[in-house]
Amino acid sequence: MGLHLGCHLSASGGLLAMGHDAVAIGATTFAFFTRNPRGGNARDYDPTDAAALVELMEGRGFGPLVAHAPYTMNLCSAKEDVREFGVRAMREDLAKLELLGGTYYNFHPGSHVGQGSERGIELIVEGLDQVLDPSLSSTVLLETMAGKGTEIGRGFEELAAIIAGVRHPECLGVCLDTCHVHDAGYDIVDDLEGVLDEFDAVIGLSRLRALHLNDSKNPLGSHKDRHERIGEGELGVNTFANIVRNERLRGLPMVLETPNELEGYAREIALLRDLAEGTDS
Ligand code: FE
Ligand code: FE
Ligand code: ZN
Repeated sequence: MGLHLGCHLSASGGLLAMGHDAVAIGATTFAFFTRNPRGGNARDYDPTDAAALVELMEGRGFGPLVAHAPYTMNLCSAKEDVREFGVRAMREDLAKLELLGGTYYNFHPGSHVGQGSERGIELIVEGLDQVLDPSLSSTVLLETMAGKGTEIGRGFEELAAIIAGVRHPECLGVCLDTCHVHDAGYDIVDDLEGVLDEFDAVIGLSRLRALHLNDSKNPLGSHKDRHERIGEGELGVNTFANIVRNERLRGLPMVLETPNELEGYAREIALLRDLAEGTDS
């Protein structure tokens, strides 16, 4: 299976426009917000636009797309109306993603805001149980988090507990964000294999469905979550060479969320492709 590299794209021009952007920068996957990342309102997708994107991707070797839920979603908020918004938004998003078929829907598990991680996990499971539906073609991905504030998902154990708690674990996977796991304290710089072993032991590598490729502005275990361009942060270019060459990560969509415009993303995708082929540039 090939290498599927891409980046986060603006959805403001619609679905097909993102496909054209992706092709232009040499991407064979991409991420996008399903709605305004900070606001609540959502537009439905235009079925013609969706069909045109699917057609564009066919025959071009695209891997699955990795849609991203809004940041305002918090399934373990202490406020009931916030939790209800999260459930409603997730349901609507998954319904409209059916127009694309077989996409990933990545979300931040949530922040327990002082209720404690045990209660937070309970609430996330409650929310997911109202949303996960085996008849849908999308898989919902829990993102590994840096552990900023009261974020759930700083440790693999918390994600495993969520997966173990829901009625339909077959609808769930994990998206590993390289900046986040590093900031959470997992040393992918010096021991990528060890971290993958731990992921496998705690969650199971078959749950790993996508990666966010970001360098980090901050040191190991800093719990900060500040993304940096590939090779310009604490992770360094070698870490990403190890990732794109890793047997156990082969075929997974890898999405850049680095501080870049399209041009910078095109350069990073080319760099990662060179690293994968072992022709260090
Ligand atoms: Fe994210
Ligand atoms: Fe991310
Ligand atoms: Zn982040």
